[in-house]
Amino acid sequence: MRVKCILCEIIEQLDDENPLAKRLRNRPIHTYMCQRCHDRIAERTKERLETGKFRLYRDKQLEEEW
Ligand SMILES: [Zn+2]
Repeated sequence: MRVKCILCEIIEQLDDENPLAKRLRNRPIHTYMCQRCHDRIAERTKERLETGKFRLYRDKQLEEEW
């Protein structure tokens, strides 16, 4: 089946036996994300998590300074 990435709108061909293709077929809303966008989002999520950790770490240090 042909799927369209929701982010960059690239059209890709998924094998009908691909579990992802089956899942997309069963859903009224197609939320396919191509590998490149998927990686980009994962990278951003990771960065955000690391920033969050950093902030938590700094907050903890501030508490200790009190
Ligand atoms: Zn994409």
